[in-house]
Amino acid sequence: MVDSTDTANDDTENKKPSNFLRQIIDKDLADSTVQSIVTRFPPEPNGHLHIGHAKAICLNFGLAQDYQGQCHLRFDDTNPEKESNEFIKAITDDISWLGFQWHGDIRYASNYFDQLHEFANQLIEKGLAYVCDLSAEEARNYRGTLTEPGTNSPYRERSVEENASLFAKMTAGDFDEGACVLRAKIDMAAPNVNLRDPIIYRIRKVTHHQTGDKWCVYPTYDFTHGQSDAIEGITHSICTLEFEDHKPLYNWFLEHLPVPSQPRQFEFSRLNVNYTVTSKRKLKQLVDDAVVDGWDDPRMPTISGMRRRGYAPESIRSFCTATGVTRVNGIVDMAMLEFAVREHHNLHAPRVMVVINPLKVVITNYPDEQVESLDAPNHPQNESMGVRKVPFSKTFYIDREDFREEANKKFKRLVIGKKVRLRNAYVVKADSVVKDEHGEITEVHVSYDAGTLGQDPSDGVKPKGVIQWVSADKGVPITVRLYDRLFDQESPEKALDSDSGENDFMSCVNPDSFSELTHCIAEPSLLEASPEQVFQFEREGYFVSDRFDYRAGQPVFNKTIGLRDSWPKQEQS
Ligand code: ATP
Ligand code: MG
Repeated sequence: MVDSTDTANDDTENKKPSNFLRQIIDKDLADSTVQSIVTRFPPEPNGHLHIGHAKAICLNFGLAQDYQGQCHLRFDDTNPEKESNEFIKAITDDISWLGFQWHGDIRYASNYFDQLHEFANQLIEKGLAYVCDLSAEEARNYRGTLTEPGTNSPYRERSVEENASLFAKMTAGDFDEGACVLRAKIDMAAPNVNLRDPIIYRIRKVTHHQTGDKWCVYPTYDFTHGQSDAIEGITHSICTLEFEDHKPLYNWFLEHLPVPSQPRQFEFSRLNVNYTVTSKRKLKQLVDDAVVDGWDDPRMPTISGMRRRGYAPESIRSFCTATGVTRVNGIVDMAMLEFAVREHHNLHAPRVMVVINPLKVVITNYPDEQVESLDAPNHPQNESMGVRKVPFSKTFYIDREDFREEANKKFKRLVIGKKVRLRNAYVVKADSVVKDEHGEITEVHVSYDAGTLGQDPSDGVKPKGVIQWVSADKGVPITVRLYDRLFDQESPEKALDSDSGENDFMSCVNPDSFSELTHCIAEPSLLEASPEQVFQFEREGYFVSDRFDYRAGQPVFNKTIGLRDSWPKQEQS
């Protein structure tokens, strides 16, 4: 559940703006159309959940929470060949990690296969369903187009008895896959093609992950969804806009079958985010082609990827709330998600010092063997997060980028002849450099001002810059994985292949989205990090201890996000 002890970020999360669905629910409760609400999240266990699903999860579970209703988790498992228990496990883990708990047991549409089969027989009895022997291609030709009506199947007028007997044979496995299907008898001339005698059962001789070999006929999504909603007493069946055209069919089944309740379907627009793709098929291709290292690669917009990247569930929830619920399709700027990630970690992540690209610095006027233990606050604005000890010694590392032999005034870091403040420590002045035979700087020699610990220099000249450092004697090497956006183009979904004219989102993959550094130096306190703990590496960004590549005392860190947005803003379309 949402952790009510969590402070500022959840305040923004809990400011839930009204939207058209809330208005509908308010009205339904006010006029007693329903006594309380029941929603559901209905994933197909054929892949991993992505940021778009997170939105549907936050919406369905969030509404149930806010209105003291219930939200069911129901796997829509009518395509056994593409589904697996591995996906079921991953999906339930993702939902729990996001902070939601479904009401009662995990449900499966396959729990209702007996009832659905009975419903199909009832349609046959009423003369509202028939077994059709047209091949898939023939059926397509009979179907008509968006502008022309379809043509009745030659099998449409089979008798009730014949249909009942043929459906029994289909169910018994007497026919091959594709030999025939069961169709609802609605209207081949309906302007909405979904009503042109849709298939409701087809033969699939495959083992199902829940029902094993019990069935060789499986109901279609359309025949399953509404009736499952009705069986579970769902009051508000919320889905994305592409199901709007299916609603007349959803309602047709509810009207013609003896269902125990009358759910209603409402649609909202899908969440699309720029600089990424939100389609299971495309995400699968990235995995299959080894562009990424699995579904939970930290660059993936999957929930497990974002988790591994170090995004907090609170950030994902507040982002989903902030994107609103509408019926207008649009594209949300990735920067909005990243803002929510930074906002949470800025409040909660302890600060530490890590040097990503080490350059050795020696203090010529500091005692050789001395090691001081300096106090460093864990959070500059939150004293309650405490103070840790950081060892300081004659030799330490700074980042290569923080030193120049010469620089103009804009460079507020270490420069020969100039002073800089070492975070949580002294002011030092750079005096000279040592170079190797290639002219590369290998060491910087500085002098320190012993009176500057927590105090300005006595000459009153305050250094402009503050840089992080790590003691060379006491610092520890760590592995850091740098991640950036997976796509470097704003609209990978719109990129076209010049030869085929097909979408070529693969051409938008950012070649610099991943690198691994093994020579970073961290203050020793970081070795105590537990898996999934997030830190702010001062001046570098937020980093998370990888949840899988973890050995006690040897964490590996994934870059979650830099401190500031370095990507161009979304173009206004
Ligand atoms: P994909 O298009 O990635 O294959 P899907 O819609 O086939 O996803 P389902 O498992 O059927 O995936 O989705 C479960 C629920 O999540 C559905 O109610 C669906 O409407 C919702 N959903 C999927 N993608 C999005 C999205 N981008 N924004 C909001 N809701 C989404
Ligand atoms: Mg789907």
